[in-house]
Amino acid sequence: MTVSNNLQQIQSKIAQACDKVGRDTEEITIIGVTKYVTIERTQELLATGNKDIGENRTEEFLNKFEVIGDEANWHFIGTLQSRKVKDIIEHVQVIHSLERESVAKQINNRSDRPIDCFVQVNVSGEEAKHGLDPEEVLPFIKKLAAYDKVNIVGLMTMAPHIKDRDEIRVVFRRLAQLRDNIANEQLTHAPCTKLSMGMSNDYDIAIEEGATHIRIGTELVGSTNDSR
Ligand SMILES: *Cc1c(COP(=O)(O)O)cnc(C)c1O
Repeated sequence: MTVSNNLQQIQSKIAQACDKVGRDTEEITIIGVTKYVTIERTQELLATGNKDIGENRTEEFLNKFEVIGDEANWHFIGTLQSRKVKDIIEHVQVIHSLERESVAKQINNRSDRPIDCFVQVNVSGEEAKHGLDPEEVLPFIKKLAAYDKVNIVGLMTMAPHIKDRDEIRVVFRRLAQLRDNIANEQLTHAPCTKLSMGMSNDYDIAIEEGATHIRIGTELVGSTNDSR
């Protein structure tokens, strides 16, 4: 399937999910996750007009950035080591995976402009997952007031790899509630109005639960060079 066909199908599924809960499709940003695919496939996505691209490893991000440059809005969605921040910070629009103060400090030291960041939360409590426990999130965000280049726009999570869609929904709902609690604090450095949640298997549920940024790889560009 062409990326353009895939995108159309995703857009119609987004429209259905929005319809169901009375949301406007304009509220949803589709981040095309290109970590599994080539630069050519990534360019095919850009040609559709979808400019938001997500990568999860600094090396691969830099490979693609070298060719594509600022034609894309780059979202960094993977675990970020503080010593790697300096390599990417000039080129990224949004970081979705903030979970350590050392990374916030590096962003603050290395960036010449404010960077929009999501704080990653491990809602389901799975051992292998990155992100903060829900109760750690507010204290962590309060500490980030010290770093004026770090702008906390929202929270991010990954749902567990399970079949039970109700259980996935509970995870997204809990993230939305946590987001509301933090937004209510009205912290200047943390408006925290957005939700980065939903991937190929569960973005419809995520949208019903309030996602503003969905991160889609497999269903949009495929998981190898030209699949799907
Ligand atoms: C790989 C990845 C995605 C996309 O996953 P798909 O299931 O291929 O849509 C989304 N978010 C993060 C953080 C990822 O690492």
